[in-house]
Amino acid sequence: MITLGSRQVKFVYAPEGVTRAIVRVSTDQRRPLPLRRREAFLVKCGDVPPGFAWYLLAPGATLPAALSGFPEVWLPEEFDYIADGDVLRLMPDRSELRALYRRSATHNSFLLTERCNNYCLMCSQPPRDVNDDWIVDEIIQALPLIDPDTTEIGFTGGEPTLLGERLLELVRACKSYLPRTALHVLTNGRSFAKEDFAERLGRIGHPDLMLGIPVYSDLAHIHDYVVQADGAYDETIRGIINLKRHGVRIEIRVVLHKQTVGRLAELASFLSRNLLFVDHVALMGLEIMGFTRANLDKLWIDPADYRTELRQAVQTLDRARIRVSIYNAQLCLTDPSIWRFARRSISDWKQEYLPACEGCSVMDRCAGFFASAKYRHSDRIRPVSATHQTLEAQR
Ligand code: SF4
Repeated sequence: MITLGSRQVKFVYAPEGVTRAIVRVSTDQRRPLPLRRREAFLVKCGDVPPGFAWYLLAPGATLPAALSGFPEVWLPEEFDYIADGDVLRLMPDRSELRALYRRSATHNSFLLTERCNNYCLMCSQPPRDVNDDWIVDEIIQALPLIDPDTTEIGFTGGEPTLLGERLLELVRACKSYLPRTALHVLTNGRSFAKEDFAERLGRIGHPDLMLGIPVYSDLAHIHDYVVQADGAYDETIRGIINLKRHGVRIEIRVVLHKQTVGRLAELASFLSRNLLFVDHVALMGLEIMGFTRANLDKLWIDPADYRTELRQAVQTLDRARIRVSIYNAQLCLTDPSIWRFARRSISDWKQEYLPACEGCSVMDRCAGFFASAKYRHSDRIRPVSATHQTLEAQR
């Protein structure tokens, strides 16, 4: 999933008193007039139609004299990617622009809050106890501008459920404006230990909602240690049961690291006996971001060293007919008998391969590496030969 940072741009002119604007980008010369008043026209070359709320000028482009005095933003080259249908936040008072949504991206993710009631050892977005309620207001404005044919959007945090009623408001807005778009919410699930909250979410009846909830062990104390919160495991498990009781689909997420792989097989057995009703289990390789870097000695284990545990867990879940996927895994470190569960999960713009991968016959199927693999990666990466691949396919 992507969350794009703010970047500096030059506002040549902005309407007085406007400190923040959420706009959809258009390149359509024939855009109906009433829509133009709420959109930004991207000027590259060719005619520039009148009536848009903003004009975004690519490097080298100019605004015709007839439109001088209209709100005008000069984009540096790094904004080459901006295209028709994208949604931007413009902040003239700070000379900042941020892409909130990119129509061409396969994953668009919205951070709802930086607050969290867990403090996970490997948190990629370290929590901050700040009042960031304005973020929800901004997303409520952005949702109607998003292409309704978008396949999926995600909500992340922090912990989105700390927003309470406002999270429900966002889910309702997604159902209204984007009824064909899948909505994936990453949450620790603890707030749903209160059945009333789970019931209210279920009652919205979003047509394609999935909650991704981490469970790190079959033992409460290990899970609570990983998330650094006493009592979290109990609340999370009760939350999962309540959500399912009210018809909300659940994905269990397990990040694979030194603290979780030791009992991975037992966790798979626990899920297949007690939470057989979940809709998906994602077993996810570690991304070295945020707190993970500071806690790397507690977390890092070479994936080659948990190869057997991963295979056992996948086989247990598959035998129980639970849908299971492996994310962020390098195939040469993964038992070939479970390659069919591995997904190319790392977004294109983050995905990398190492010089050691050269000549690998399964590169087009392998998730590869996050850029953060520069901090630590296995020293057992070996290209898979075509012969080996053919033999495995025949197994
Ligand atoms: S050598 Fe590289 S591309 Fe091939 S399986 Fe290993 S990590 Fe993937």
